[in-house]
Amino acid sequence: MIELVLPFKSVTDFEVKLSEEHELFRKSVREFAEKNVAPFVERGEKEGAIPEEALLKAKEFGLFGLGIPQEYGGQGGDVLSVALATEELSRVWASYAVRVMSTGLFATPILLFGSEEQKKKFVTPVARGEKTGAFANTEPSAGSDVAGITTKAERSERGYVLSGRKIFITNGGVAHYYVVSARTSPPSDKRWKGISLFVVERDTPGFRVVSRIETMGLRASNTAELVFEKAEVPRENLIGEEGMGFKYIMQTFDTTRVGVAAQAVGVAQAALERLVSYSIERQAFGAPIISYEMVQEKIAECLAELSAARLLTYWAASLMQSSKMDQAIVAASIAKLLATEIAERIALRSMIVHGGYGVSSGGVERLLRDVEIMKTYEGTNDIQKLIIVREAARRLLGLQI
Ligand SMILES: Cc1cc2nc3c(=O)[nH]c(=O)nc-3n(C[C@H](O)[C@H](O)[C@H](O)COP(=O)(O)OP(=O)(O)OC[C@H]3O[C@@H](n4cnc5c(N)ncnc54)[C@H](O)[C@@H]3O)c2cc1C
Repeated sequence: MIELVLPFKSVTDFEVKLSEEHELFRKSVREFAEKNVAPFVERGEKEGAIPEEALLKAKEFGLFGLGIPQEYGGQGGDVLSVALATEELSRVWASYAVRVMSTGLFATPILLFGSEEQKKKFVTPVARGEKTGAFANTEPSAGSDVAGITTKAERSERGYVLSGRKIFITNGGVAHYYVVSARTSPPSDKRWKGISLFVVERDTPGFRVVSRIETMGLRASNTAELVFEKAEVPRENLIGEEGMGFKYIMQTFDTTRVGVAAQAVGVAQAALERLVSYSIERQAFGAPIISYEMVQEKIAECLAELSAARLLTYWAASLMQSSKMDQAIVAASIAKLLATEIAERIALRSMIVHGGYGVSSGGVERLLRDVEIMKTYEGTNDIQKLIIVREAARRLLGLQI
């Protein structure tokens, strides 16, 4: 019989585990972001980069090491704290949040599957904000289809020789270390088999950053194309077991995806705050526009949807926190799907209420542009729908579909 709370096992699976400490931490990140991040947004968006001064502030505050164990240079902190920090930073500047919190995408596969030496050598300096990491899986002809990658890693005397291209890589042009996926054996009956993960250092001969990719949103985040032309990496840079990379990538996304939902909640919060304050200030036909019911309707819809997006995100993070991974994986995809779509609608309503100012460059339109990227990366929203159904069926109902 199908459970009453399908696809979850019990009503307790809907618990949100926030405490007073979380609230204190959230407030401290908000203060940090207002004081140290907001002054750099305009310049950074124009220059297409996060100014060094702003990155230095993140390093001093310990943001690069959030969620990373202290023994590897991090600050520790639970899943909810990382989500709250991501939300607060994204509320002020999503590109900044991505730059700082993408440490997690780089560090997770090494922390979960790497050797002690790899954790010390590569994660520690990134967690301290001394070096930058990137995670390179997507290729010109394979994004959603992770098993379709064609970058090759052939065995050599010292280790492996990598040949291929990676595209749309966050921090691609500014990183020192890259987690890179490559095929160590050709696809067999099980397509996912034969992919391995490696850490590639920036100065590896045969590796280069080809070009910066300009995107409609997250303009201050560095997105780049990379090329590997017989780039040799030492054997000790193989992460975990040869051929298990596909599983490592999936498990990495399972834990980082809730971060994208948190980014979207932060952007939605910013869009709503700006909508409300503008509709109080702006006069039309002799009254503030907030007095008109069609503006009030938009505010009500935003409040309802933002509350839902926030609850879903905290809920997914709570499940992960409790190590209820079967439920957390489904919940994280639900949260990413809905939070990003809700953020898009809230940003759009905010633009509409801002009239001509809403569609002028440098205003609330940035929020909409940033959210479009969130709908695309770490699995497009259509891919999230597939994950929700397949993972719920497999993990919670024991069905293979
Ligand atoms: C700014 C930015 C930063 C990024 N950062 C990184 C990064 O740091 N590292 C990294 O590895 N990648 C990164 N990406 C890549 C991103 O993860 C991919 O773009 C995304 O996963 C989609 O892959 P794709 O572009 O190849 O599109 P495709 O996979 O070709 O998809 C094209 C369309 O087909 C749909 N589709 C595909 N398969 C199916 C299916 N089975 N069923 C239904 N619909 C389907 C998709 O939903 C999409 O709408 C980034 C992308 C952007 C834009």
